Amino acid sequence: MLALIHLIYQALPLLTMPRLQVKVESMDFAERMSRLGTETAFEVLARAKQLESQGRRIVHMEIGEPDFKTPDHVVSTAIKALEDGWHHYTPSAGIPALRQAIAEHISRTRRIRVAPDQVVVTPGAKPIIFFSLLALIQKNDEVIYPNPGFPIYESMIRFAGGTPVAAPLREELEFRMDVDEVIRLATPRTRMIILNSPNNPTGSVLDQHDLQKLATAFRGKDVFFFSDEIYSQLTYDCEALSIASQAGMQAQTIILDGFSKTYAMTGWRLGYGVFPSLELAGQITKLMVNSNSCTAAFTQLAGVAALTGDHTPVRQMLATFRTRRDRVVKLLNEIPGVSCRLPHGAFYVFPNVKSFSQKSADLATLLLNEAGVAVLSGTAFGRHGEGYLRLSYATSMELLEEGISKMAETLGKLEIGATLGPQA
Ligand code: PLP
Repeated sequence: MLALIHLIYQALPLLTMPRLQVKVESMDFAERMSRLGTETAFEVLARAKQLESQGRRIVHMEIGEPDFKTPDHVVSTAIKALEDGWHHYTPSAGIPALRQAIAEHISRTRRIRVAPDQVVVTPGAKPIIFFSLLALIQKNDEVIYPNPGFPIYESMIRFAGGTPVAAPLREELEFRMDVDEVIRLATPRTRMIILNSPNNPTGSVLDQHDLQKLATAFRGKDVFFFSDEIYSQLTYDCEALSIASQAGMQAQTIILDGFSKTYAMTGWRLGYGVFPSLELAGQITKLMVNSNSCTAAFTQLAGVAALTGDHTPVRQMLATFRTRRDRVVKLLNEIPGVSCRLPHGAFYVFPNVKSFSQKSADLATLLLNEAGVAVLSGTAFGRHGEGYLRLSYATSMELLEEGISKMAETLGKLEIGATLGPQA
């Protein structure tokens, strides 16, 4: 009885409180929210799932994540960490063992010298984009970024108050950034240049010559390079080089990397940034304190195991991706009206579909609704992606063959215009 009285007493304020008024139609959001973009891949995935729930068979080639499991030794390390009591907060910038392992990994692979204090660990690599732009970009600052490119760059440049300046990736240059154009686009207001090699969505990889030219043009200037190297371990016939490896450029370069793609750990949320100064790393850590507090402890231990353990599963995954890439490019080039270059990194192809004289977004919708194949419009990565589609080949060969054959059937019903895109 006493307990019941206590309960009523506790609930009394709730019962007598006026109902919360939620203005559903005219809710006022902060102005900055109108500057935030999104990632279409998640929207297409949702639409594809909706069609599946209605009984449709859908072949998924829209989402950018490996279809492999995380290597066993990484999983068992995380399980053991949980059993051993790694259940609590960690330092905001990451546990010392992981920061050390990352510093060693980046020092070795980029041939530079990185101290653990320059590393900040985050839940996925995406926050490194968010935090770096928040920390460095303000009103009137210009940021040059690849277009087509990962849509979060443009979104976050605008959100931070900066001005995005698109550097078009053109098929004639195998979708590599035109570094001469980047140099021409730079103004006294340019504060940052974003590089992404291997590139999402095109799979292009910057070469030594590109990086040398950029370094020569910007060395010693008040311009940061933000080098998104999340696909750095996923290259086929070349090595992914970092602008940070160019003489003197580490002092101006933020490196983003992580575990999502290389170790098939997208759902674990584990990434990191390597910063050119301890002051900047400190500012990024402050953003971590204000947002996530820290990255999950057992996930970080898994990260140490991933970096320092056996890389045979990574090599096997890469070999499978290479076989699929070759097959997918061949099959796409057999479709009348489609031409597709051989990408050198990541797990995407970016076929040219200009000859169908339709907007890429309309083609992508048609392919989802008619063929049951989920792909992304090139314009999901910026306006310079018009005329292209992005297909992820991070799915089984059987499904890729089924998907491309269904695409061929649907595209075969469309008229091909006179302007065929360049062949691979
Ligand atoms: N950078 C690029 C170019 C990406 O494609 C992605 C993910 O798709 C990320 C960063 C973010 O990676 P994460 O899933 O670790 O946040």
